[in-house]
Amino acid sequence: MSKERGGEEEYFAEAKADWRRSALTAGGEAQASLWASAQRAREEIFGKRIFVRGVIEVGNFCRQNCAYCGMRRENDALRRFRLARDVIRRVIDESLPSSVTDLNFQAGEDPVALKELVLPVIEEIAKEKRLGISVCLGTVDHRLYDELRQAGARGYIIKLEIGDPEQYRLLQCPGTIERRLEAIRYLVRTGWYVSSGFIYGLPNQTLDQLIGTLDLLRSLTLRGCSVSPFIPGEGTPLFSEKRADLDQTLNAVAVLRLSSPRWVVPAVSALNLCDSSGYVRALRAGANLATINLTPSEWRGDYQLYRRKRWIMTEERVLQAIAQAGCRPSPESWIAASSSFSSFG
Ligand code: SAM
Repeated sequence: MSKERGGEEEYFAEAKADWRRSALTAGGEAQASLWASAQRAREEIFGKRIFVRGVIEVGNFCRQNCAYCGMRRENDALRRFRLARDVIRRVIDESLPSSVTDLNFQAGEDPVALKELVLPVIEEIAKEKRLGISVCLGTVDHRLYDELRQAGARGYIIKLEIGDPEQYRLLQCPGTIERRLEAIRYLVRTGWYVSSGFIYGLPNQTLDQLIGTLDLLRSLTLRGCSVSPFIPGEGTPLFSEKRADLDQTLNAVAVLRLSSPRWVVPAVSALNLCDSSGYVRALRAGANLATINLTPSEWRGDYQLYRRKRWIMTEERVLQAIAQAGCRPSPESWIAASSSFSSFG
């Protein structure tokens, strides 16, 4: 790729051989030592504490058409829903597990759900509850980011998805990469705690693209970053493609931890779709945040990123995974903990 094209693409032109290349593909003893180093790096900063967040998936309408995602607007097979405000309130008031210190509201890219559901609920609960509040609602008008923050949200999860501009365009990732990056930078600039992320093992993804994505993410002054294994999604053009390699995705978790020890790195539930040990192994590879799914069971199947039959992380499963990894739940929210760090990486 030519350097003259400038901007983000320079990262890819400059991606060179480094330790991350061998780390991403490590197996056997090399992998064991990579994960052990990542665990040590996590413990030096966070001890044995794993942040526990609850997620409520408030709606699956989406104006985007990402080739990998089951909620893409062209998936006509999906029954679209938005939760009612009182349903969301009931989850928060009646079914919040005691281990949860953070609450995350997630949806397809749907400004209606943002304005009519998430915003008013956050306005209420920010005054009433001692919870770290984060959202994952996509690339929207800056004014809406400001309104969410004024309402009391502090964390914004917005994945870059893919850092290579050409692959981003081909896979119809949200909007344009320029706009996604601009949104991330705006959120950082205006005081949000921003966590981003990328998908590992997408069709035709190269090691150079992955290294470039890691470099780009590191340049963004983030508080956290996730890596999700690519899972071929039902109702998507990529359904017959190959799933990501679990071990390599977990190696990417360790690489994130070692490159940026202070980041909050979630263990994503999609890891358990690859293997029932995926979640625990992510915690062993250096992840430090676990998510309990709080979406009422009637709607969970329709929040279909990958397939209708989902792997649901209940409180019991999350606490068991944390214990199996030799850790314990953090009594403090990731937002409160991150605010005490003066440096981000
Ligand atoms: N719409 C919001 C946005 O754009 O940030 C919320 C997130 S979107 C509903 C959920 C996330 O699931 C995406 O950011 C993407 O990383 C992940 N995802 C969707 N389909 C996937 C797949 N097939 N494999 C792996 N990750 C996938």
